[in-house]
Amino acid sequence: MEQGKTITQCAELLKNKKISSVELTKEYLKRAHYSNKELNAYITICDDAALEMAAAADKKLAEDGAHPLCGVPFGVKDAICTAGIRSTASAKILDNYVPPFDATVVGKIRDLGGVIIGKHNCDAFGHGASNENSHYGPVRNPHDITKVPGGSSGGSAAAVAADLCVYAIGEDTGGSVRQPASFCGLAGLRPSYGRNSRYGIMPMASSLDTVGPIAKTVEDVAILMEVMAGADKLDSTTVPVAVPRYTDFLERGVKGWKVGLPREYFEGALHEDVAARMEEAKKRLIDLGCELVDVSLPHTKYAVPTYYIVVPAEDSSNLGRFDGMRYGVRSSEKSLGDAYEQARAAGFPDECKRRIFIGTYVLSAGYYDAYYKRAQQVRTLIIRDFDEVFKQVDVLLTPTSPFPAFNIGEKSDDPIQMYLADIFLSGSSLAGVPGISVPAGVSATGLPIGAQFIAPRLKEEKVLNIAHQFERVGFV
Ligand code: GLN
Repeated sequence: MEQGKTITQCAELLKNKKISSVELTKEYLKRAHYSNKELNAYITICDDAALEMAAAADKKLAEDGAHPLCGVPFGVKDAICTAGIRSTASAKILDNYVPPFDATVVGKIRDLGGVIIGKHNCDAFGHGASNENSHYGPVRNPHDITKVPGGSSGGSAAAVAADLCVYAIGEDTGGSVRQPASFCGLAGLRPSYGRNSRYGIMPMASSLDTVGPIAKTVEDVAILMEVMAGADKLDSTTVPVAVPRYTDFLERGVKGWKVGLPREYFEGALHEDVAARMEEAKKRLIDLGCELVDVSLPHTKYAVPTYYIVVPAEDSSNLGRFDGMRYGVRSSEKSLGDAYEQARAAGFPDECKRRIFIGTYVLSAGYYDAYYKRAQQVRTLIIRDFDEVFKQVDVLLTPTSPFPAFNIGEKSDDPIQMYLADIFLSGSSLAGVPGISVPAGVSATGLPIGAQFIAPRLKEEKVLNIAHQFERVGFV
């Protein structure tokens, strides 16, 4: 599939007046409307608002010093609030919700002149790994429409891959930026927990949620991170440390870097094409002058089970705010209790209900110690695994997913199989460390395969640096 326009290319065209933001936006709106019939990547395409933002961007572009994001059309996962633009989280219970405010990260991009052209379909409330769990129907992978695009930010990845927007803002609690990026042949970064503000991101698991970019190149991801990252007084979990100029790191050599290969990530059942692309990835790194080091993250096998106790526990508490009183499915029941019950029964999809049941169970008296407390203890062991391994190496290399994109319907009736799709993503998510997925080639049938680089906490510049170098040698 031909790669569409990058941020850098659009910024160049806009700066040199080869095209105006209004013209560029019209082009993308047309593409989005046309392809959405097949891909279902957008829940909302906001033509009027987009053209207004584009006209304002053109005014900014007429002055000197406009930011590279000024006038460039992008899309936002529907579980992220956008002022005046419907934001449903792909769930019926929020079907008619129009937030009066922007998520902090979205507001920062808008302030620079970014143009939102629409809201991307996703798994409802971010629950899923295939984008089939949406009130608005499944999203299709533009590389092969019989396959899923990955999830939960599947609409965002499909839209960027098909060039229905220049880039997208997604959310990653346990892999939802990285896995769809890998299935759709894109770069996607999960930042460290606390690096980017979560304000205005519909909360799923508050101790793991992050918001990150999905783009066509690592350079675009770095440009976005420079804008998105930083402390926010509206999110007290953001860290008050300076944000590096990530783009300054991209061209640095990585000669002499120690790249750890966690053996637990390579010894399981990897799809043969994923295994083959990983072997090539190792060779590329050797060509770049890196030293490959065999390392161990011994608690890896507990990552998925731990994730699926901690996350439903936090989910069950966060989803408690939805009652159908102001948005979505208002029931006509007379008693308040009955009205809540009816609205939730009708407004939440099955996976939300499953998480509410499991989460409430593991937090209840008598089970708390056996499940939730124990899971938190194991989480600490997982964090220590990463702390230890980063004493030996600069970054880690792993596959992003054990397999390329699977068939629509293949795993949708089997939650355990769906949960296991994130086997290489849950550990770093629990540990709060940054990870990026970058394209590492394709399968025998032409489906994209991703490689993941993981760095110590708040060292996004390391994964951006090595991923950019990796991407560069891959395409020469
Ligand atoms: N697939 C994972 C889950 O369902 C990840 C979701 C996410 O990162 N939002 O929990």
